[in-house]
Amino acid sequence: MWLVTGGAGYIGAHVVRHLQRSGRQVAVIDDLSTGVRAKVDAAVPFVHASVGDRDAVRQAIRDLGVTGVLHLAAKKAVGESVERPLWYWQENVGCLQVLLEEMADAGVQRFVYTSSAAVYGQPDSTALITEDSACRPINPYGATKLAGEWMTSATAERFGWSAMSLRYFNVAGAGADDLCDPGVFNLIPIVFRALDSNERPKIFGSDYPTPDGTCVRDYVHVDDLADAHVQACAYVEANPGAGNTILNIGTGRGSSVREVLEIVSAVTGRDASGEAVARRAGDPAQLVAAVNRATEVLGWHSSRDVTDMVDSAWRAWQLKAE
Ligand code: UDP
Repeated sequence: MWLVTGGAGYIGAHVVRHLQRSGRQVAVIDDLSTGVRAKVDAAVPFVHASVGDRDAVRQAIRDLGVTGVLHLAAKKAVGESVERPLWYWQENVGCLQVLLEEMADAGVQRFVYTSSAAVYGQPDSTALITEDSACRPINPYGATKLAGEWMTSATAERFGWSAMSLRYFNVAGAGADDLCDPGVFNLIPIVFRALDSNERPKIFGSDYPTPDGTCVRDYVHVDDLADAHVQACAYVEANPGAGNTILNIGTGRGSSVREVLEIVSAVTGRDASGEAVARRAGDPAQLVAAVNRATEVLGWHSSRDVTDMVDSAWRAWQLKAE
């Protein structure tokens, strides 16, 4: 039985469905602070609690016969993490400590951890980012994700676990019309909201050293990301005691803000061309993953492009409950 923390969230709900389709048994623990119960199949055992609730975690592991955990539950808004750093450390690191302790106590030895490209901070060059690139987070969110990787490595080492830390790049899209990203924190949903309110999307900076002057990111479809989680489970199942393996999860291809806006215009039939405004603090010019390690270790690679992401996200966006 795989326990998915944060399984009622945007990404977690996709991961749960993909795990079900892979034939695995799956259960969810989610505090529903941002997650939505209805996104999870009623047949999936569901524990409504925080991962920091030690008794609930202990009981869930024991009663559900948990043999592996995918830990997606976390806070992920960069700006909020700057405003409330200690809360981010509590939620993303304090809760992880409780989870790892309870797993160790119960002898659960398989772990998949959600990390982020935010661990890299502001890279010195525009080269593809490998897993060995320097990790210098520039905000509390990225710092907590990196600390979580360290805790995972140390715990996996100490107790002979097989763990995997997946550093997500820019996740977008929807795998089903009811799995819209409800948080309007990232470029594509922000642009959709602007279109809905007849505002021009804002381009944060058009004087970057990139081909069209706007920032370049590696957008990865949430369904590809969910597939990577299934492969990660298969890997840790097949390789006991392997320690913590760190993998970038992206496509290896960059898209500029302007390119994304052009795709949004094409998909929605509306003018999403946007207006250039000042740079946003802390944005690197380019952040694109080297993805060969994920392919070597998991046999995984992305198969969906930015048009697929915008198209699926737009359909889900239009159907989302207000
Ligand atoms: N961005 C933008 N306008 C917006 C929101 C985002 O130009 O209204 C840019 C942002 O500067 C970055 C890219 O879009 O270059 C992706 O931003 P997002 O916040 O989605 O993810 P990040 O890469 O910061 O994690």
